[in-house]
Amino acid sequence: MMNDVPVIQAAHHLPATNNESTTKNHQPLPGPAAPTMNQPNRTELSALGEFGLIDRLTQGVQLYHPETRKGIGDDAAVLDLGGPQLTVVTTDMLLEGVHFDLSYAPLPHVGYKAVAVNISDIAAMNAIPKQITVNIAVSNRFSVEALEALYAGINSACAEYKVDLVGGDTTSSRSGLVISVTAIGQVEKDKIVYRSGAQPNDILCVTGDLGAAYVGLQIMEREKQVYLANPDMQPQLEGKDYLIQRQLKPLARMDVVHELRELAVQPTAMMDVSDGLASEILHICKSSAVGATLYEDKLPIDGVTYTTAGEMQLDPTTCALNGGEDYELLFTIRQSEYEKLKNHPDVFFIGYINEAAKGINLITKNENRVPVRAQGWAHF
Ligand SMILES: [Mg+2]
Repeated sequence: MMNDVPVIQAAHHLPATNNESTTKNHQPLPGPAAPTMNQPNRTELSALGEFGLIDRLTQGVQLYHPETRKGIGDDAAVLDLGGPQLTVVTTDMLLEGVHFDLSYAPLPHVGYKAVAVNISDIAAMNAIPKQITVNIAVSNRFSVEALEALYAGINSACAEYKVDLVGGDTTSSRSGLVISVTAIGQVEKDKIVYRSGAQPNDILCVTGDLGAAYVGLQIMEREKQVYLANPDMQPQLEGKDYLIQRQLKPLARMDVVHELRELAVQPTAMMDVSDGLASEILHICKSSAVGATLYEDKLPIDGVTYTTAGEMQLDPTTCALNGGEDYELLFTIRQSEYEKLKNHPDVFFIGYINEAAKGINLITKNENRVPVRAQGWAHF
């Protein structure tokens, strides 16, 4: 009774121009109503995969500002905000039960890793990280002390990579911990490296070693299952420290970014190895419209990775190609730059770029030529 008359009168007194703009602002959004489970044209997420999904969702994205030099499609977005430097921005979200398991990942490690994986994407642009923001969603399962432990890891990564934590949001979650980090970096305009600059005859380089983080994850999963079956069993982790550290506390290769600058080496294309070497090579080749040849016997695989993979009936080459989470840098250089890098102890030359028509192939140890695929890579 008391709510109708004044509202109707107020609406009648609105000026005509206001009425028009109100109507414009209430235009329905394009596209179908929210899909339901029994919608006839429902597409399962699994039908597209992560990259197919990103392509599909971003089809309608338009850029409105000339300052946006590069939007979606590289390790970080690139903004030209004036001055001699470009700004790069990247973000990554980690979910409990999807990206980490708190039954074996200590909270400080989760905090550290959430920062490091973003710094790794800044490194992949050949940029220097400067600031981060951190968003977390937590349930009341977590105590203040637990969240302090998470932040101890975040602060440790900030100290290591010299980045400032400048903001974020904290909210509640009904299902586990979510941590999302956004990192901002800067790079001189002539030093930025995209995925798209690789050319035929460039040398494919990768830092560090590959496959260890994946094998480390398999070990912790195995020991968790043993523990769940029999809580009296002690985990068998002797001699596996390196693999576990690679999984729980990956390092972003900012050291390599600084060394490349000191050696005056400008990569032609670069990205970090988060999903697996094979997937990243495919990305660089697609972005650069080239193909590649890589050699199985050149892939850097640590001895512990090699022997542990064997113990677990895993193929070390498959772990290196498709394991992921190595957070090493994959980059290409002109042949003329090889002399400057050939003695670097932590850079490995694993192949070369060729014309797109020659495809993307792995030359196996027994000299077979196998096409490289991102997932489900068939063994020979
Ligand atoms: Mg990346």
